[in-house]
Amino acid sequence: MTATSVDPGGVLAQDTAAPERLAPVLDQVRSLYADEVAPREQALAHRLNDEREYLDTDGRLHPEIIAARREIMRAAGAAGIYSAHLPEHLGGGGLGREDMIYVEELVYGYGVGLNPALLSWSEGATPRLLYAHDHQRDEFTDPLVRGEKTSLHGVTESTAGSNLFDMKTRAVKRGSDWVLSGSKAYITNYFDADVAQVLTMTDPGGGRKAFTYFMFDTREAMSRGYRLGRLYQTMFGDGYTGEIFFDDLVLPESAILGEVGQGFDIAVMSFNYTRMRRAGMCSGWSRYLIERSLERVKDREIGGRPLGANQGIQWMIADMYVDWLATRSLSLEVARAIDTPGPWYRIPRPSDEIRRICALKVSNDESFYRVADRALQVHGGAGVMRDTSINKLFQIARNLRIPGGTDEVQRTTIAESLGLRFDTSKTTSAASTPAVKESN
Ligand SMILES: Cc1cc2nc3c(=O)[nH]c(=O)nc-3n(C[C@H](O)[C@H](O)[C@H](O)COP(=O)(O)OP(=O)(O)OC[C@H]3O[C@@H](n4cnc5c(N)ncnc54)[C@H](O)[C@@H]3O)c2cc1C
Repeated sequence: MTATSVDPGGVLAQDTAAPERLAPVLDQVRSLYADEVAPREQALAHRLNDEREYLDTDGRLHPEIIAARREIMRAAGAAGIYSAHLPEHLGGGGLGREDMIYVEELVYGYGVGLNPALLSWSEGATPRLLYAHDHQRDEFTDPLVRGEKTSLHGVTESTAGSNLFDMKTRAVKRGSDWVLSGSKAYITNYFDADVAQVLTMTDPGGGRKAFTYFMFDTREAMSRGYRLGRLYQTMFGDGYTGEIFFDDLVLPESAILGEVGQGFDIAVMSFNYTRMRRAGMCSGWSRYLIERSLERVKDREIGGRPLGANQGIQWMIADMYVDWLATRSLSLEVARAIDTPGPWYRIPRPSDEIRRICALKVSNDESFYRVADRALQVHGGAGVMRDTSINKLFQIARNLRIPGGTDEVQRTTIAESLGLRFDTSKTTSAASTPAVKESN
């Protein structure tokens, strides 16, 4: 949880040179970091650098950290950075995926303090807002885009993760309202979210038309059957992942996000975004780890010479660099190909782009994990200590291979789109493979 004030521009600055057109945006990120993030990281250093202070007595992310994050989100929203990834008609900055990689890698290159709050992530203005209606604009879309409210995304259930069709949460029409029953598991930002975006089944057996999203105010829904469950203790101690329940929660028709039966398509678009978002995040954090590792092996003396003078250490650093550079190059190429025909969120399915997006997630997750593993190794015992950014990023890197669709699920999609999709209904028992299968 170590906060850092290190400017990412180190040895790798040349390798991450961004196109000139992005100079004003990147300068704005640097100013926001200097004015909004660094002072708050300094003020909260005792919490950010000690996991016993990072959480409150109930194991939740400490309210002071939540408040600081929200202040940074708002400042970044006012500066037009927080939602730079969204189209302008939604109030976003209209940047394409390639440009966003440069922005993201600068933001994440600052390390693992409060800096991620500069950009909207799963708790913020996700592209699901593209499906919001006009009547949802004032209450939900605008405040989320401006970083004034936060959201949760409820898809996974304790018995339904990799396959959406295992979902048990139902929404049933009653008069002019909808009644939701069920629960969601592993939900990020579950207790602090102002807004919930929840995927339900409205037509079991309806194939890809079986699902519908609802968007509602969490606090207002508490009195009508919406309930928080337990907090999970994750390996990276984030203190804000948990369960939510719908005990016959009654919602009006106006709470639907998109249309009835459109939930599957919105979810897939949303997963694509989450997967592509790995690019700048993993690149920025890998770069941060390489820089810190270089400093460490130059400074650390063992037997009268720098640790970095040993070929075994040099090769570990070189392998980190190769992993980072290869994945970063792949990410930029995939992003460029996706940006070229038009906005990425209009990608038709199935398409070659989907396959490349899955490849991008696997490549980023796994190369970042290898970089983090080597960074920890070259730090020796210091890397094993929990309250260090090296250790924290190692744990985050391990986690990233699970959410957003596991890396195995990405591989399955890649293989199937390369022609390895078979009808297994004759060989599987029970309910057979769904006609349309997609994964979280
Ligand atoms: C920290 C964290 C935050 C999260 N945040 C959210 C959130 O905000 N909202 C949300 O909705 N969800 C969230 N998730 C849930 C996440 O999306 C799921 O954990 C993920 O999709 C995997 O589902 P599962 O955990 O049920 O694993 P399972 O589906 O049970 O999979 C278990 C293992 O089996 C493998 N597997 C599954 N199917 C196959 C197959 N056909 N072939 C080969 N291998 C297979 C998987 O790859 C995995 O390794 C979060 C998870 C974590 C850990």
